[in-house]
Amino acid sequence: MTRRRWIANAWSPQTAHPTEASLTGEQAQHLARVLRAEPGQIYDVVANGFLHRAEIVSVSEQEVRFLLHEELETDAALPIHLLLAVFKFDHFEWAIEKATELGVARITPILARRTEKHLALAAPKRVERWRRIALESSKQSRRTDIPDIDDPITLAAALARESAATRILLSETEQSLTLVSTLKSSADQSNADLALAIGPEGGWTPEEMALFTTHNWTHVTLGPRILRAETAAIAAIAIASAQM
Ligand code: SAH
Repeated sequence: MTRRRWIANAWSPQTAHPTEASLTGEQAQHLARVLRAEPGQIYDVVANGFLHRAEIVSVSEQEVRFLLHEELETDAALPIHLLLAVFKFDHFEWAIEKATELGVARITPILARRTEKHLALAAPKRVERWRRIALESSKQSRRTDIPDIDDPITLAAALARESAATRILLSETEQSLTLVSTLKSSADQSNADLALAIGPEGGWTPEEMALFTTHNWTHVTLGPRILRAETAAIAAIAIASAQM
């Protein structure tokens, strides 16, 4: 049986090879109250991005302290950067949760032209919640790392700083070029970083599409049906991960 993984809130020393770690906040409360954790018990704890077998040395509802034993094998995140236009928050949060389960390394919320205005205004205040969702989903899916959730930014800013070797725009207006064929033709770069961009409920504007082209993004289709943005995101990540 795979054990549940816990992600340390703090560790020491602050090097690549910490020897002690602690869980605080809700994780400590859960261990202390619900699981009735006790000194001497063994758990799997991620500290500084590495998974360790770890032994509890002390328990309180504020902090559970661990001695870190040997490092365990881990699976790296997929080198996928998801640029996700901000859309209705409940759907957007679902997409963050699922993208995390599927293994993406990073998500950038994009304030697109057709992102509804009240959502764009509220987005900066939601980021902390989105990061918590990513943390919970990482634990649930037994990831050893948590995807980075960036602060929301405009599309122009996001495109200017994108460095992924393969850049793919999911477009409901692209007629022929598919995601699979595009990934296959860049197969020599199968280990390289991949950026995937998904538009808001109203889609990307023509100006935004043109901006992607200027920045050398390939426009691809997922098929003839119009998908919800969150469906397109999950499908694209699943297809890409199968090719990697
Ligand atoms: N403007 C559309 C809806 C946009 S769907 C309409 O006609 O109502 C939201 C986003 O999901 C799109 O911007 C695109 O990134 C993605 N998407 C949806 N269907 C897609 C498809 N068939 N192929 C590729 N991407 C798709």
